[in-house]
Amino acid sequence: MSEAAVVETGPAVEIVGLKKSFGPLEVLKGIDARVERGDVVCVIGPSGSGKSTLLRCVNLLEEPTAGRIVVNGTELTDPDVDIDAARTRIGMVFQGFNLFSHLNVLNNLMVAQRKVLKRDQKTAQEVALRNLERVGLGEKVNAMPAQLSGGQQQRVAIARALSMDPDVMLFDEPTSALDPELVGDVLGVMRQLADEGMTMLVVTHEMQFAREVADRVLFMDGGYVVEEGPAEQVISAPRHERTQSFLARVL
Ligand code: ADP
Ligand code: MG
Repeated sequence: MSEAAVVETGPAVEIVGLKKSFGPLEVLKGIDARVERGDVVCVIGPSGSGKSTLLRCVNLLEEPTAGRIVVNGTELTDPDVDIDAARTRIGMVFQGFNLFSHLNVLNNLMVAQRKVLKRDQKTAQEVALRNLERVGLGEKVNAMPAQLSGGQQQRVAIARALSMDPDVMLFDEPTSALDPELVGDVLGVMRQLADEGMTMLVVTHEMQFAREVADRVLFMDGGYVVEEGPAEQVISAPRHERTQSFLARVL
């Protein structure tokens, strides 16, 4: 099991009354959301609606202006919490691949395990190789990032996040920067993770993925969650006019 004490009951992620302002601009206006353990929740909505800010607040890359965020029983918004320790349990995959360009794939997967989790060389290497196999890139262990396609780089980024044994994985439009023919491989890896029971919060424009893989979908607009429900219902039979008009534009 994991190194840290993990609360085994309650939702994986609970967000209550979350607000975030940048100066005078209020971007998140009171978000309530939860992700149950083992569930996949997709966040959809127009550009500028606050999706990335929401995700960045969940691992405290942004400091919330108000509200509570609880991840596996640890309140991240508690001023006394060890935020660095809590953050190691949250994996994040961005639109850009964010690999260290001067390190080969193996070392990209080992750096944080060694420095943050203090794993020994042998353990970190075993974990890295296992997760590279998991994303179908075991043979790329010695490649440099620049030698890989965008889709392969993104799968390495996923393997790197998995190597920290996260309780929850956050994905912010992980396929948006990819050439269309490479999108499927990355979505396939995410689908496999979902099947393995990984808890995932995914901002995406891939409506077919959301419909097929997500347990629940949140539709955000203007800093609010406008609609939330089972994936099939929100995408195929949205109740709110704003969800309907958004989906009419993207589907
Ligand atoms: P989305 O991911 O849904 O496109 P974002 O969360 O990126 O939306 O952005 C929501 C709003 O917050 C936008 O108006 C954006 O310009 C603003 N914003 C995001 N980050 C910052 C920041 N660091 N400083 C100022 N404004 C920001
Ligand atoms: Mg965004």
